[in-house]
Amino acid sequence: MVVLRGGTVVSPQGLERRDVYIDGEKIAPDGAADEVVNVSGCLLFPGFIDSHTHLDMPVSGTVTADDFASGTGAAIAGGTTVILDFATQDRGHTLAEALDVWHGRADGRCACDYGFHMAVTDWNAATRAELKTMAAAGVTSFKAYMAYDNLRLDDKALGELLAYTGELGAWLGVHCELGNQVTAQVSDLLGRGLTGPQWHPVSRPNRVEADAVARLLALAGESGGLPWVVHLSTREGLVAIEQARAAGRRVLVETCPQYLTLTEELYSLPDFAGAKYVCSPPLRSAQDRNALWRAVADGEVDILSTDHCSFNFKGQKELGRGDFSRIPNGLPGIKQRPALVWACGVSAGRIGPEDMCRMLSETPAKAFGLWGRKGALEPGFDADIVVWDPGYRGAVRAQTQQMRCDYSPWEGFPLTGCARAVYLRGQKAAENGKCLRPGGGEYLRRDTAIIS
Ligand code: MN
Ligand code: MN
Repeated sequence: MVVLRGGTVVSPQGLERRDVYIDGEKIAPDGAADEVVNVSGCLLFPGFIDSHTHLDMPVSGTVTADDFASGTGAAIAGGTTVILDFATQDRGHTLAEALDVWHGRADGRCACDYGFHMAVTDWNAATRAELKTMAAAGVTSFKAYMAYDNLRLDDKALGELLAYTGELGAWLGVHCELGNQVTAQVSDLLGRGLTGPQWHPVSRPNRVEADAVARLLALAGESGGLPWVVHLSTREGLVAIEQARAAGRRVLVETCPQYLTLTEELYSLPDFAGAKYVCSPPLRSAQDRNALWRAVADGEVDILSTDHCSFNFKGQKELGRGDFSRIPNGLPGIKQRPALVWACGVSAGRIGPEDMCRMLSETPAKAFGLWGRKGALEPGFDADIVVWDPGYRGAVRAQTQQMRCDYSPWEGFPLTGCARAVYLRGQKAAENGKCLRPGGGEYLRRDTAIIS
């Protein structure tokens, strides 16, 4: 038995000075410790969950820079002990095939525990019949796209998918951008010779997201189901969510550190450097960023995850020179998320450690069928523990981010705390920003969501 002594345990309900006992893979109520680890001065968080990642993912004729080995190594080095990645159905293929492909990419390679959501791109009777078998295989949350021609569902399919996943008690994550509007605006801009990265946000203005959020919530109102708005980026989208909630409707809301810390002026950086920030939805204005922070502080945002989808600047982002629509979409943030939320949220006085624990640990654990194992430092839960050092001072550096990606969107951002040590099911899995146990992660067969 190991005891972490002298730290302060964080939960959404508050901070508590108490020792944490580890017995094998689990947290124990107390006991006779034969090893004492001094963690005085540190906070102890339940391992952070990143419920939105894309690793080893083919996109736009290339493949993400990070695979499951490098991505999860970086994740655990920063304090993330669970990732949930998006297995994605190819049209003409089954969900079972997609799940096999993603297991083939991830199994045996992950440094943190991992599970999959399933993205549905081909909605038909056979797909519908597979939803239950997915849930039995531990895939208890789903995803749909309203944008991207090779991925998106029409409104009829989306409504039916909402209804059927809702019957299973599964959240349906939805990428909320109206694809028709995006396609039209991209071809209009390119046709006018406007080809640089600064035109990417112009092709996807706020209303492209806000209209999609409103349509999703209207469909959910008709069909039932459990809509989960992924990567919310706009104040108008937030208003649509607030209106639905005021009408008594249930919706799970996620945003990401990039929308809280970066703004659209970055797309105009010289030397094509704006391409480093191309993701969809795009970075927004300071007003949007401020509205999202207000929503985070007020408890309106349920989950902060990364949407980690990394591409090197050299050779990958550069594929879009001369045509911004060919810049692979996505940002790398799987390691830095906890430190960014700490620096820009907790240290900046916008939120408390309790809020950080709610959005990075407890709520994703409950929403994605991991509660009881993950998300709290209580007896019987897995001993996934982040020893958080608030005395650390440093800065984001791509060179030390442990990823395969050759840049960081936050290069030079000052950091005011970090994961000093990270335990995964009772074993020390990372220390001082480095992964100690590559391949130490296990597949998580998830239960159904706890809907409150
Ligand atoms: Mn998306
Ligand atoms: Mn995504």
